[in-house]
Amino acid sequence: AQSTQAHTVLTFDGDGIGREIVSAAKECIEATGVNIRWEQMDMGYEAMQNTGVYIDDSHMDAFEEIGVLFKGPLTVPPKDTNAYVEVRGKRYTSGNQVFRKYFQLFANVRPVRSMPGVRAPFNDVDLVVIRENTEDVYTGEETWVDADTVHCVKRISRGASERVADFSFKYARDNQRKRVTALHKANVCKQSDGLFLNTFHERAAATDLGGIIADDQLADSCLTKLMIEPKSFDVLCCPNLYGDLVNPLSLRINRGMVGSLGLCPSGNIGTHQALFEPAHGSAPDIAGKGIANPTSQILSGCMMLSHLGEFEASQRLENALRAMYASGIVPVDFGGQADTKEVVAAVLKHL
Ligand code: NAD
Repeated sequence: AQSTQAHTVLTFDGDGIGREIVSAAKECIEATGVNIRWEQMDMGYEAMQNTGVYIDDSHMDAFEEIGVLFKGPLTVPPKDTNAYVEVRGKRYTSGNQVFRKYFQLFANVRPVRSMPGVRAPFNDVDLVVIRENTEDVYTGEETWVDADTVHCVKRISRGASERVADFSFKYARDNQRKRVTALHKANVCKQSDGLFLNTFHERAAATDLGGIIADDQLADSCLTKLMIEPKSFDVLCCPNLYGDLVNPLSLRINRGMVGSLGLCPSGNIGTHQALFEPAHGSAPDIAGKGIANPTSQILSGCMMLSHLGEFEASQRLENALRAMYASGIVPVDFGGQADTKEVVAAVLKHL
């Protein structure tokens, strides 16, 4: 049942289509009846045109304190403007990097689910990619050891492997999933991927999985199988690099043959903070036209509701969205007529 508890959520519209799809999603989230107090702030590339500030300590303090952020996409400052993002004494290439790195949002979560009525290469796909977000080959530690050779550090730690494994099992339990599969190349990277894999199985053995299967698969054979039979997967628990490779492939499944990124939500979860946003960018080509598909932002809202413990409202909103697609409403990015407002009206009707 829906709780009467009040939740405080920090929200940034972001750039481009951000304002249009964030306000559309908020309207749908509020219609579930969940009690949310939105703490609205401006940040990003467009805010910087007005105030000179992309992000500053006030945004960091607010996220630190409130702990849940619902945001639209951000435009990455163009390289030639020299507009890097600097906050709390460090430079980052984008606003999203700031949140992920500074707050150690260690689990990137991307559900990939076929939508009824959307023509796509595969139907009945329902998988979730959980990507470890803090280490592996993305630590930035690359060293020239001589004029012709570079060493790149692939960092895998027991602690980071444990927390992403534990997160994956908890996510699977909370979301009624049946199987969690760890990706690895422990046949080649015996120590590093071996540590990730062994830790995954150790945590599985130490956890009450409630019937959920914990197994593993070589990353290369998993990628091949994803292209042929994506519906055979449920939750994938990936080290950073393999997660990065799986994600575009799974987005391709979700986009459909005439499809769009407008279907793809994401969550970035840490120990104390969590951020929910679409998996796509700020779509400057359609910004301000009122035709952006708010589905990705609404589904990010469903993920946020589950994170807040509002599972029933989350399910109800997702069901309404799916019923809307099944009823034949076709958003503009799928070649149809339904603009942002019409999609929202149809979702509210089904809710
Ligand atoms: P994009 O994802 O913004 O757009 C790619 C294509 O998909 C465009 O044709 C766009 O119109 C379409 N599209 C995306 N979302 C849509 C939606 N909800 N409804 C309908 N159509 C949609 O990619 P881009 O143009 O390469 O990037 C634009 C900016 O966003 C860049 O500055 C990029 O760095 C940034 N970006 C931000 C994030 C983020 O904030 N998480 C992620 C990716 C890219």
